[in-house]
Amino acid sequence: MAYTNSSMVSYTGLSPNHSGQRTHSIDRITPHCVVGQLSARTICDCFPAGREASCNYGIGTDGAVSLCVEEKNQSWCSSSNVNDQRAVTIECASDMTEPYAMNAAVYSTLIKLCTDICKRNGKSKLLWFGDKDTTLNYSPRSDEMVLTVHRWFANKSCPGNWLYARLDDLAAKVTVALGGSGSQTSGLQASVFAGLSEADVIAKVGPLFTADQKKNGILASVSLAQFILESDYGKSELAQNANNCFGMKKSLSGNTWGGSSQDGNSIYTKQTKEQNADGSYTTIMADFRKYPCVEKSIADHSAYLLGAKNGTSLRYDGLKGCTDYRKAAQLIKDGGYATSLTYVDKLCEIIQRWNLTQYDAANVTDTEVWYRVRKNWAEAATQKGAFHDLTNAKNCADANAGYSVFDESGNCIYTGKQSSALPYLVRVPIADLNIRKGPGTNYAKTGKYTGVGTFTIVEEADGQGASRWGLLKSYATERNGWISLDYAAKV
Ligand SMILES: [Zn+2]
Repeated sequence: MAYTNSSMVSYTGLSPNHSGQRTHSIDRITPHCVVGQLSARTICDCFPAGREASCNYGIGTDGAVSLCVEEKNQSWCSSSNVNDQRAVTIECASDMTEPYAMNAAVYSTLIKLCTDICKRNGKSKLLWFGDKDTTLNYSPRSDEMVLTVHRWFANKSCPGNWLYARLDDLAAKVTVALGGSGSQTSGLQASVFAGLSEADVIAKVGPLFTADQKKNGILASVSLAQFILESDYGKSELAQNANNCFGMKKSLSGNTWGGSSQDGNSIYTKQTKEQNADGSYTTIMADFRKYPCVEKSIADHSAYLLGAKNGTSLRYDGLKGCTDYRKAAQLIKDGGYATSLTYVDKLCEIIQRWNLTQYDAANVTDTEVWYRVRKNWAEAATQKGAFHDLTNAKNCADANAGYSVFDESGNCIYTGKQSSALPYLVRVPIADLNIRKGPGTNYAKTGKYTGVGTFTIVEEADGQGASRWGLLKSYATERNGWISLDYAAKV
C-alpha cells in the first residue's frame, strides 16, 4: 500500500529528523503528550536539525494538525526504533504537568486523525489492550491498527495519565467511526486504574455497576463496594494483570453455575494465602480467572452470585432484586462469599464513605444521555445539535434532510423523515468502499468497489457494521449490492 499523508494537515513544517522510509508497514499509532499547550506549527518548530527528535503529526491546542515527518518515513518519537518503524506518532498539545491533560479540541482531532490514518492504511479497527506485553506480542491482522504508548519504551509518563485513561475510549470511538462496533474492540482495562485516584476509579467504574444492576438485579452499590474491597480500587495484582476485580478463582463452587462470562481457559497464577484448620496460613500457588476487560469480570461476578449453589439451593438466594444494601451485603456474607466476621460492616462503610448508592439503578437518572443529530456518525462536523430529549432530537432530524439521531455509542436510532425520500444521490469520497451482497458486514463482499463518484441509493436498511446501509440502483433488481452509508454523503 502506498503511503500517504493526512488531508487534515493545515501546516507542514518537515523536520530533517527521521530515518527515511519505514521498513515495516504501519500497524500502530502512538499518541504522545508534547508537554505544553503549543500550536500545531510550534510543535513542528520543536524538531529542528540536531534535536534528535521528531513526530509524524502534531495536534495543536486549537485542534489543528501539522505534519512534521511524512507518514512514509520513520519518525524519532517513542524511544524505540522497532515501534517508530511501524507506528504513526502524534504529539498532542497538553498541560505541562501530570496528568498532562488535553483539551476537548485536541482530543476530538485525535479521534479524527486516528480514524483517518486507519482508513488510509486499510484498517477497520483500532485496538487498545492496555498492557505492554500483550500489545508487543500481538500480531495485528491486516485490518487492525494497535495503540502503543511511549511509557512502555522509556522511563516517562507519556502520554500522561489523562490520555492513558482514555485510550480505551479512543480505540472504541475510532473503531465506531470506521464502521465497526466499538464494544468488541476492547472493554475497560484495569491497568488504567493504576494512574487514577480512588475517586476517579469509582467515577469510571460506577456506571458499569449501574448497567450491571439493570441487567442482573444485583444492587450496584454492593457490587461496587466489593470491587473496591477485593481489588483495592482496581490496583491489586490480579486486577492489574488479569482484569480480575473480585479475586475469583478458576474453580468456584464447582463451576456448576451458569452464565459465566469467562472462557474457562484464561488463567492467571499467583501466590495466595490459604487458612489451615488450626488458623495458621500457608502460601500456595493458585489459579485465578483472567478476563479480557473489567466488564467481563463484573458480569462473571454477578453470574456467580446469581447461580452458585450449595447443594440444590442457591447460595445467595434473595440477592436478585434486593434494594437494601445492608441486607444484600448480609446475604452475600451468609452465602459464604467471605469468612471475615466484619465483612458486612466493611462493605457498608465503603458504601457510606463514597456515597455509592448514587450508582444504584433507582437513583440514576438518564439525563446525561446525549442524542446527537448528524448526517452520519463518522462526520462529527455535520452535527446539528445534541439533545437530552429524544423527541427534540427526532424533531431536529426531521427538520434537516439527510440527518439521523445517534445514541452515545454511535448507533443510528432514528432516521429523519426527510431521509426516507428515495431514491437519492450520494457522493462516495473514497476509492475502496466495498459493495456487499446484503445490508451488513455479515454479508459477503461482491469483490467490487464503488470507486469515487456519485451514486443513486434506492433503498435503505439497518445492518451490522454501519449506522445505515444503502442499496445501489445498479443492483436494484437482484437487491444484492449494498454500501455503508457512513462513507457516503447525500448530495
Ligand atoms: Zn512521548
